[in-house]
Amino acid sequence: MTTSTDFDTIIVGAGPAGLCAAMYAGRGMLKAVTLEGKVPGGELLATEKIEDYPGFESILGRELAERMTAHAKKFGADIRQATVDGIQREADGTFAVKTVDGPTYRAPTVILTAGGTPTKLDVPGEAEYAGFGVSYCAVCDGAFFRNQVLAVVGGGDAAVEEADYLTRYASKVYLVHRRDELRASKILQERLFANPKIEVIWNKKVLEVQGAEKLGMKEVHGLRLQDTVTGAESTLPVAGVFVFVGFRPNSGLIKEHFAHDPSGYVVTDDRMMTSIPGLFAAGDLRVQLTRQVTTAVGDATTAAIAVEKYLAERRSHAGV
Ligand SMILES: Cc1cc2nc3c(=O)[nH]c(=O)nc-3n(C[C@H](O)[C@H](O)[C@H](O)COP(=O)(O)OP(=O)(O)OC[C@H]3O[C@@H](n4cnc5c(N)ncnc54)[C@H](O)[C@@H]3O)c2cc1C
Repeated sequence: MTTSTDFDTIIVGAGPAGLCAAMYAGRGMLKAVTLEGKVPGGELLATEKIEDYPGFESILGRELAERMTAHAKKFGADIRQATVDGIQREADGTFAVKTVDGPTYRAPTVILTAGGTPTKLDVPGEAEYAGFGVSYCAVCDGAFFRNQVLAVVGGGDAAVEEADYLTRYASKVYLVHRRDELRASKILQERLFANPKIEVIWNKKVLEVQGAEKLGMKEVHGLRLQDTVTGAESTLPVAGVFVFVGFRPNSGLIKEHFAHDPSGYVVTDDRMMTSIPGLFAAGDLRVQLTRQVTTAVGDATTAAIAVEKYLAERRSHAGV
C-alpha cells in the first residue's frame, strides 16, 4: 500500500469543523490534507436552513457548506475523497491514517473532525425498511412523502426541527417521544406547538417498524408502540419514519486507548488536544455542552492554531 508522508497535519472529515481547520491550516502555511469520505459539508448537507450562524440570519445548509469549502480552498485546502479506516500512532510518534482502498497518510499531527453517526432505534423492521420509508435525513427524503402521514421519533432539537420541516410535504407529522417533555430548545418547541400539522405522541417508545412488500418494493405501513407508563401497546399507521434519537461519535477511528466519556465522545484539553499527544479533535465528536456549527468552527480554529504551536515546539525541542 502506498504511503503519503509529506504533511504537517491530516484533517479527518470535512464538515464545518474540518473545513474551518483546513482554512486555518492554510492560513498558517501548514502542509495539510483533508480526507473526507463523502462530499465536503458534513451535517450541513442534512439540514435545510441554518438560522443561528452569526452573519447569516438564515442560510441554506448546502450553501453554507459550499461557501466554507470555497473559503478553505482559497487558502489552499487540499481536500481528498477518502474514507478513513483508522488512526494509529507509530513508535516514532507520527500518526498513520489508513484509508479504505487508498494510501496510508502519515503526519506528526492529526485533527479528527469526523462528527457522529445517527443512533438507530435498534428495533425489528428498522434496518429492513431503511431507505424504504425509514430515514435519518428529512432534507434528503422528505419530498418523497408528499401528502402522506409521517412519524418523527425523538425529542431533541433535531427531531423537533425536522418534524417542522417535514410538514411542508406531509399531510400530518406525529412526533413520537418516550418522555412527557421535550429536550429541544424553547424556541423550537414554540414553533412545533404552533404548527397545526404536528401532533406530539407522549410517553411512547417504538417497538417495531411495520411494513410489507408491494409490487416488489418494500414500504412502511406503521409503527408498533408501547406506552412507557402503562406498558399498553398500540399501532400508529404512517408511510414513513424519520429517526432523530441522537448521535454516536465517530471516535472509534482512534485505534488505541484515548480519554472519552461513557458515550465515546472525545475528551480534549483547552487546545483541543486529546489524551494522545499530537492528536487533536474538534466539533461534534468532542465532549462538550452543545453541538452546533458555531462550536464546531470554534473548536477547529483552536485546534489548527494549537497544531501550529505544537509543531513549532517539537521543532525547537529537536533543535531544527
Ligand atoms: C438535522 C440537523 C439539523 C441541524 N441544525 C443545526 C442548526 O440549525 N444550527 C447549528 O448550528 N447546527 C445544526 N446542526 C448541528 C451541526 O450540523 C453540527 O453541529 C455540525 O455539522 C458539526 O460539524 P462537524 O464538522 O463536527 O461534524 P459533521 O458535520 O458531522 O462532519 C463530519 C464529517 O466527517 C466525515 N467523516 C466521518 N467519518 C469519516 C471517515 N471515516 N473518513 C472520512 N470522513 C469521515 C463525514 O462524512 C462528515 O462530512 C444540525 C444537525 C442536524 C443533524
